Amino acid sequence: MTAASVTVLAGPTAVGKGTVSTYIRDNYPDVWLSVSATTREPRPGEQDGVHYFFVGPEKFHQLVDNDDMLEWAVVHGRNSYGTIRSTVNDAVANGKKVLLEIDLQGARQVKETLPDAKFVFLAPPSWDELVRRLIGRGTETADEQQRRLETAKLELAAESEFDVTIVNDDVPRAAEELVALMGLKND
Ligand code: 5GP
Repeated sequence: MTAASVTVLAGPTAVGKGTVSTYIRDNYPDVWLSVSATTREPRPGEQDGVHYFFVGPEKFHQLVDNDDMLEWAVVHGRNSYGTIRSTVNDAVANGKKVLLEIDLQGARQVKETLPDAKFVFLAPPSWDELVRRLIGRGTETADEQQRRLETAKLELAAESEFDVTIVNDDVPRAAEELVALMGLKND
């Protein structure tokens, strides 16, 4: 696999990785956005095969056992998420610019297997803004919010492991910066 065409986007929970990815999916068709497998239940509006492959734990662990995952992790101590290796290999083989939007544990695994990939850290403008985004999203219970904030503190401390930081102060601007980093022109 030519890892140079793979970009990994990671960052703390609720920083807006999903929003930036969605914006890229809608506005930059030349970016091939990896669709992860997850054991999490779909949120309202999420479609199987578009936002995630929603699989049960049995299917997920089968993918892991068969070494079909490029990386995988249990995120927030709860659900499993992983990148299916063959889908990324095929996209790279087809000359696509590949974007993986994954958590920090996954990013570290990709660094082991694809050290030439580009590692991008999406940072919030401030800690207060990150807390505001997490609470404001309203999709998690108070317990879950607390759990995710604890994870976010650890994730913020990992910024120096990345090649470059993009501040998500504005979604279209951050997306544009990311796409430019990937070597793609704006549409
Ligand atoms: P959510 O449940 O809010 O969609 O995602 C929770 C977290 O899982 C996010 O931080 C997201 O980046 C991460 N995630 C999504 N897909 C993958 C994946 O394939 N691998 C890993 N390691 N993390 C993922």
